[in-house]
Amino acid sequence: MGLKFEISASSPEGGRRAALHLPHGTVQTPVFMPVGTAATVKTVQQETLERICSNGAGAEIILSNTYHLYLRPSHEVIRRAGGVHRFMAWPRPLLTDSGGFQVFSLAKLRKISDDGVEFRSHLDGSKHFFSPEHSIEVQIALGADIMMAFDECVETPATWERTQQSMGLTHAWAARSRQYWLDHRHEVPWHEQGEQGEQGTGNREQGTSASADPLSVPSSHMTPDPSSHQSLFGIVQGGMYPDLRRESAERLVEMDFEGYAIGGLAVGEPREVTREMIARTLEILPKDKPRYVMGVGYPDEIEEYARMGVDMMDCVLPTRAARHGLLFRAPEPGEELSAKENGEPASRTAVRMNIKRVEYAEDQRPIDPACSCLVCRRYSRAYLRHLFVAKEPLGLTLNSIHNLSFYLDTMSRVRAGLAG
Ligand SMILES: [Zn+2]
Repeated sequence: MGLKFEISASSPEGGRRAALHLPHGTVQTPVFMPVGTAATVKTVQQETLERICSNGAGAEIILSNTYHLYLRPSHEVIRRAGGVHRFMAWPRPLLTDSGGFQVFSLAKLRKISDDGVEFRSHLDGSKHFFSPEHSIEVQIALGADIMMAFDECVETPATWERTQQSMGLTHAWAARSRQYWLDHRHEVPWHEQGEQGEQGTGNREQGTSASADPLSVPSSHMTPDPSSHQSLFGIVQGGMYPDLRRESAERLVEMDFEGYAIGGLAVGEPREVTREMIARTLEILPKDKPRYVMGVGYPDEIEEYARMGVDMMDCVLPTRAARHGLLFRAPEPGEELSAKENGEPASRTAVRMNIKRVEYAEDQRPIDPACSCLVCRRYSRAYLRHLFVAKEPLGLTLNSIHNLSFYLDTMSRVRAGLAG
């Protein structure tokens, strides 16, 4: 079994409430996935992620970046550790991207052929080559529950002809990714070191079995059912052209993936265009499989897309904004939502607070009086501002915890609404 997707309720607008069963556990959808680029959600430790929401629940799935882990510490190091779950002591589901987006946005001196992409590392300039087969080989070594087909991300803006040509390459690469996955998915490293944790199996509910395994997360908790395997999602491309989006979705559906992502969005286009591309693509994608929009967005965007029928989303925004002192909170009753910051349209559901502003220097309230996350239950705006201004690392951690909690609580609210 790769995954099982069980829809329990849906709305007239197309939104769905579902349970996504994966080898390392069940994810309630629609879901927002925190990004753990280099096998860490920056500044937030795994224990905290497991109980980061206001109601004490935690992140049920996180994302890691194949490009970064391939370069450092390398997929071979992670394979020998038993996969990225064991490497980072994260027993819950994980998703890896294909490396495509980073190769096209971070790496230097790319040379693209039908076969794949040659590029130089942004870390040390060393030369590497990614083909669809190699991307999947690396993702099998990492061992995430869900992995992504290797795709080309076309530059923005791009002409229709250029976008169509790039999309054709993405489709050829999707078929090759899928073939390599079918031939090699049994090579996932989950089970190789599972024997030493076997004694702990069955003790999950009772917590650690200290004599068998001294770790607080016994390795048996990270060893799924032996019959389970990784799932592979295809990625719909097609730039900002509705006809190409439609064609891309149709080609990928013919290949029969276990889930589908919509890629190449939120790359600078107006939000109406993003919404339009998502809507056109959702019309084609099968209703009984998970649908994932990559790299979005602001709190009101993730809410809107979830209501349209998107099941999964990820974005660096909550953590990256937190590290820049930008916090999201619910508007207070009667509060006017401020228009445009950084040229972005005003949000309907989230106020943006810049914690370094002097007006917070003696503000003893929590960030968000309506939030009961670990941070808002304990710390004041005045203290968070002090930490940020003094460049204390704890400030980055606390800001990140609140923003992630705000995002996950937002999705929890959307799920409750969909449940009817
Ligand atoms: Zn909070």
